[in-house]
Amino acid sequence: VRNDSQTMSKKSKKQILFNIYSNNLSDFKTNLKSNNTIPNEFGLYCPLCTQHFSENDYDQLTLEHNPPNSLGGKDNILTCNKCNNSAGSRIDSEILLALNELDLIGFKPNSSLKTRLYNQSTGENGINAIVNLDQEGKFIINISPANNPVIKDAFLNSIEYEYNSGLPIFSNFESAGLSKNLSFDFKKPNKRNERLASIALLKIAYLIGYEKLGHAFLFGKHMELIRSQIKHPDKEIINKPFWIHNNYTDDLLGVNIITKPKELKSFLIVFDLQTKSDSYRIGICIPGYNEKDIDVYSNIETILCQGEGEVTIETNRYLDKEFKIKDKNNSLLPIVFWEELFK
Ligand SMILES: [Zn+2]
Repeated sequence: VRNDSQTMSKKSKKQILFNIYSNNLSDFKTNLKSNNTIPNEFGLYCPLCTQHFSENDYDQLTLEHNPPNSLGGKDNILTCNKCNNSAGSRIDSEILLALNELDLIGFKPNSSLKTRLYNQSTGENGINAIVNLDQEGKFIINISPANNPVIKDAFLNSIEYEYNSGLPIFSNFESAGLSKNLSFDFKKPNKRNERLASIALLKIAYLIGYEKLGHAFLFGKHMELIRSQIKHPDKEIINKPFWIHNNYTDDLLGVNIITKPKELKSFLIVFDLQTKSDSYRIGICIPGYNEKDIDVYSNIETILCQGEGEVTIETNRYLDKEFKIKDKNNSLLPIVFWEELFK
């Protein structure tokens, strides 16, 4: 019975989202001044591949969790089957891996990391293991049975025994005897993983922008570039930093517009990623509607290189607070507001 009701609620959620974004699209299309080539029929665009889906293609749309389910996200948008199953599943797992690594390196309770352990006995290949830190802070290491048995034995035999005299002899009898020490290093995250993880953050921010602002965000001036970077995470399409580290307060969660310094004028999307151990707050910049707005990434780099790694910014929250995607006749508002703000 529970399964049935869950299926039903998923179906109706999908229908509700389809209607909201279809209405947003048809409103957007009607209000665009310039000639547009957007199809007339009721439907919406997959925000990742920009393929158009009419009501007849409804089955090809799926609820997408953004941020990924494993990082505490909710399924509040629709993407196409193809994108939901392929686009980004690889980069999504990279961000999970990277954060799990941070959790464990930070010795946070309930953290877990699939990694490789190295010491003199394992050579440079290391040994596959899952390292867990439980609620009480106790380390539990599971060594995979799939390891080469010779290396595995060598690793386990690399335990060093140390003799404790336990003196004075009667006061602490339990500590007398042998203790075991096993020393090893974790695998360090490599450059490529960090790159993929950062593209996963870009994807999350982009999809939040779409969730909140709809097609006026999706058809923004520089969004094709963002999408192409998300689609090809291995290519350096955006080869500058697109994140700004800050202590973002709760009221900044969602879509902001950076108004000062003017070099950083952009959408600033702030979101939390939830691991089993901790929560990570991220701020990602997405360029706005003007030709030159793409310069934000070069400017972030310049400002970060000049300063002490900290940037003071002023933000505008109007779109996050006042813009409601469900409202009629406001689909162009993000663009109009942007133009007003920076004229
Ligand atoms: Zn798609």
